[in-house]
Amino acid sequence: MNIIFLGAPGAGKGTQAEYVSEKYAIPSVSTGNIIRAALKNGTPTGLQAKAYIEAGQLVPDEVVIGIIKERLAEDDCANGFILDGFPRTIPQAEALDNMGISIDKVIDIEVPDAAIVKRMSGRRVCKSCGASYHTEYKKPAQEGVCNNCGSELVIRSDDAPETVLERLKVYHAETEPLKEYYAKSGKLVIVEGQEEVNDTKALVVKALEA
Ligand code: ADP
Ligand code: ZN
Repeated sequence: MNIIFLGAPGAGKGTQAEYVSEKYAIPSVSTGNIIRAALKNGTPTGLQAKAYIEAGQLVPDEVVIGIIKERLAEDDCANGFILDGFPRTIPQAEALDNMGISIDKVIDIEVPDAAIVKRMSGRRVCKSCGASYHTEYKKPAQEGVCNNCGSELVIRSDDAPETVLERLKVYHAETEPLKEYYAKSGKLVIVEGQEEVNDTKALVVKALEA
């Protein structure tokens, strides 16, 4: 199954994507994680993306489209994949269609802006492996320490409150129109993000198995 997760920054699509990835044993591809890894490693892609990410802006379409093209060509994507954070613009969705890749379902996780701003302030990410946590909703076993690799958890620089507002603005302008794009092809399923992560997981599974 080829699945797209849509939703505002901080709506919890990454958490849901990871859950579905384990449950169905298909890889979750997060453009955000790929770009952050590139940044950390100082690759040309990382250098290109840096200023955009830090300002809460989208990285140019051609850069992320290139990243996705390469990633989806890898063997582990052959039996299905989950896209977390791609597409984020209409041209990105069109590029995906032009790659000849068929999408089975698009799950849109809806969370009101006010709840997002509140959530983002508690978001923490592992400095070394990129796993994400939340001080209230997804606590690590030991405060400030990654469950996977034991490294320190930090606040992502683009989770600063001003940057979050900018990212929400960009989401409404650039990404939200994708709902209509995928509704037209009958692939869109809207899931209301719940206070409890597990409740959202149950709704997502229901949507996928419907
Ligand atoms: P979130 O879902 O919380 O916004 P991501 O980790 O998905 O976080 O993305 C972080 C940043 O990476 C975005 O704000 C943007 O700058 C860049 N990015 C990720 N995916 C894309 C994409 N598909 N198109 C353009 N920029 C992207
Ligand atoms: Zn880690």
